[in-house]
Amino acid sequence: MEREVRVRFAPSPTGPLHIGGVRTALYNYLFARKMGGTMILRIEDTDQTRFVPGAEDYIRESLEWCGVELDESPWKDGPYGPYRQSERKPMYMQYALQLVESGHAYYAFDTSEELDEMRERLKAAKVATPQYNAITRMTMKNSLTLPEDEVKRRLESGEAYVIRLKVPRKEEVRLKDMIRGWVMVHSSAIDDKVLMKSDGMPTYHLANIVDDHLMKITHVIRGEEWLPSAPLHVLLYRYLGWEDTMPEFAHLPLLLKPDGNGKLSKRDGDKFGFPVFPLEWKDPFSGDISIGYRENGFLPEAFVNFLAFLGWNPGTQQEIFTMPELIEAFSVDRIGKSGTKFDWQKARWFNEQYLRSKPDEELAQYLLQALEEHNIECSFEQAVKICSLMKERVTFPSDFWRESSYFFEAPTSYNEKVASKKWNSQAVAVFEDFKNELPSLADYNADAIKELLNNVLERHGMKIGQVMQALRLAVTGLEAGPDLMHIIEIIGAEETKARIEAAIEKLAAYASA
Ligand code: GLU
Repeated sequence: MEREVRVRFAPSPTGPLHIGGVRTALYNYLFARKMGGTMILRIEDTDQTRFVPGAEDYIRESLEWCGVELDESPWKDGPYGPYRQSERKPMYMQYALQLVESGHAYYAFDTSEELDEMRERLKAAKVATPQYNAITRMTMKNSLTLPEDEVKRRLESGEAYVIRLKVPRKEEVRLKDMIRGWVMVHSSAIDDKVLMKSDGMPTYHLANIVDDHLMKITHVIRGEEWLPSAPLHVLLYRYLGWEDTMPEFAHLPLLLKPDGNGKLSKRDGDKFGFPVFPLEWKDPFSGDISIGYRENGFLPEAFVNFLAFLGWNPGTQQEIFTMPELIEAFSVDRIGKSGTKFDWQKARWFNEQYLRSKPDEELAQYLLQALEEHNIECSFEQAVKICSLMKERVTFPSDFWRESSYFFEAPTSYNEKVASKKWNSQAVAVFEDFKNELPSLADYNADAIKELLNNVLERHGMKIGQVMQALRLAVTGLEAGPDLMHIIEIIGAEETKARIEAAIEKLAAYASA
């Protein structure tokens, strides 16, 4: 029988959500929506020692910012709650006991010193990966080696114990991954994982399987780093008698550093100078700040579009996808098997595309806000005109102000290279006439300004290419920018005239050279 699709994103609140985590959440969400299923968020906080204050709020805010909607979560209750594992604590023990009873798990009383000793012993015997497994378990203190009455006595006296999974010594564990196909692991590579800890909390493995089962999860879509745990999870489903409703697995390819050398890490943001977190994060212990996409000026829709393409492609040339379009186009078949290199330039490109597609009136708000902070007055119409001119040249909303300050302030310095190459007496002669005639233009607009410049040039027997860069230098101080005639129109005739006069004076040395 086809089951209703239910997927979950299951982060641990051990720090800020990395962009790889956001991508996992996004793919789960796209799949859920595409299949008409349910998107669940479960907080996996069984490891209390790794709890970081603020991390859960951060996860919530990040997903909200991205537009990843949750149907069931700690903040939106559903029929299978609670959605925080720490609040589900009483549910897990019975399953661990069920495994003990059926002979698939056992009590272990080893102290940490005894465990260390075992590892040392194995290391000395040149065992490559010393672990608690089918062979070594028989040399340790557990309910398989101790007499039954002693086990009973220890349990009754309240002695600390853990419950471990009894992994078979020789067995091939197979699982079909939706992205990778059949994955085979020999059980000898799996150790007798702890299922219940001595503090009465389940470990990730037990809690994760129990919850996926109880929450009726049909597909587990998660990062590749969990692939080595998957065979263990298959064994747990089998031993708990839940194999027939075991979810399908899809392990997402790793996100790699820009040069392809290794996994993109949380520290790479500082190293390469781009954010690896969706939102800014202040470490509650050290106070260190990590930059975020949101604060860096990314539009959430651009960020989401970029993330979707880090590991998936639609199989067509189309690159710009809104969330509903992503949902429509998404399929697990088109997720790649190999790692995806992080590409900062591409991230910026997506933001540029989304900014450009916004109406000028909306972009004007970014500029007006920055102008207000700098106490500069500007009408809405003027801001709209400037943004329309600048939009092809900006990557972030803050660039509107950063790249357009010359509309409001006369240049205080001039690009040296252009000044030495392009500023000369012939150009100055043209500018003298041009600036004097500019204020009397009947119809003051970019076309009329260009016509005037051409007329003056003709009188002087010169071509526009001979003066254009010098004129831009006089008006903006810069080497490049958007259409100069439009800039002059926006700045106004009197201001342009004043700027040209100032440039003629300040750059006099170049004209006489
Ligand atoms: N709590 C795990 C994590 O932090 C979840 C892994 C899984 O999805 O099974 O990524």
